[in-house]
Amino acid sequence: MNVAELINATQQQSQSCGIAAREVVSKMTRNLALASALACLISPLAAQQADQSTFTVGTAVARRGTMATGQIVVPAGSDSGMSISVAVIHGARPGPVVAFISGQHGTEYTTIIAMQRLLPRIDPTKLAGTVIVIPLVNTPSFVSMTPARNPTDNKSMLGVWPGDSNGTQSSRAVALINKQVIERANVVLDFHGGDLDEDVGVPFTAAVRGGNAKQDSETVRLAVAYGITHIQIIDRPLTSPGVGRRVDGQALLHGAASILVGVGRVGTVTDADVKLTIDGCLNVLGALKMIDRPATAAYTPVWLDAAAPRISAQGPGVFFATVAPGKMVQKGDVLGYTTDFLGLKTGDITSPIDGLVVYVHGVPSMRRGVSLAEVLPVLPAVPIWKVP
Ligand SMILES: [Zn+2]
Repeated sequence: MNVAELINATQQQSQSCGIAAREVVSKMTRNLALASALACLISPLAAQQADQSTFTVGTAVARRGTMATGQIVVPAGSDSGMSISVAVIHGARPGPVVAFISGQHGTEYTTIIAMQRLLPRIDPTKLAGTVIVIPLVNTPSFVSMTPARNPTDNKSMLGVWPGDSNGTQSSRAVALINKQVIERANVVLDFHGGDLDEDVGVPFTAAVRGGNAKQDSETVRLAVAYGITHIQIIDRPLTSPGVGRRVDGQALLHGAASILVGVGRVGTVTDADVKLTIDGCLNVLGALKMIDRPATAAYTPVWLDAAAPRISAQGPGVFFATVAPGKMVQKGDVLGYTTDFLGLKTGDITSPIDGLVVYVHGVPSMRRGVSLAEVLPVLPAVPIWKVP
């Protein structure tokens, strides 16, 4: 989940794959042209689909005013096949298409469980538009309790978008989700947080901006509407080659408002965190006028700059955090310390900047490159877009 880590991983993957990067640029150019031709966020394609009497994703065929469940079936290829459960709630009236995608990291349980419990909270007979919910993308990770990766091909599903129908299981899976869900959505929320080694003590939404003013403004509006106090700003220029390697970038490329949500602490699921996640989803549907729900209560967001330097382990060993998420720290403050496998101290981990501790590595296991903590600068307001 850790945002800085994910941004970095995405950049590394895109840098090591020139062909894929060129394909993304080509696709991005087409989508930019499409986006600029549109007068509003709701694409004609999505609007047309939302107007249909049925809405189909995988084997789920929802008639207007009903919810249908089914599977996105990923056929076997160079490795085994898999199925991804999906629910489609096709509202009684036309409206936007919203996609809730969770569990690309299959042991980030909080939001996976929240998506399950969200389903009965949306009444299709009172809904305008269509809600697509995938509670758990990475089923192999969930059932095998493998954090961060899909054990079938040892890939992070987060970084293999837009997928490849001829690739390994992760790539084949996200290719289908991209085609059947992301390309049709006006709003995409990607849920993370609280993996087995991650203490996201400061739950957050993140507004993922691409540099298109209208699109970005809608993204920020909906991130605020979600209602979690801390809102990170993640800037991914639509012109950058790696933007499409993640689902939030694919959402941007297809003209959707793109939001990332991070909630959860080291694999635990609390009712409070689940409620926070569900309420935010309903708040967004309310802000889109898809359901009748009072506007999110006014609050003062704490804006955080997600483009902060990484704090990562230099090698294998043992880590202990000495600060809790939510603490304001200054540059040089000690965040934790490391030891060798005999327990002898090997060093302190200090903050490279002034800011808010939003995340700490929640277990002693440490390997080179793992993110040990995340400290983000607090911003006075939503920054004006500039190319990062
Ligand atoms: Zn994650």
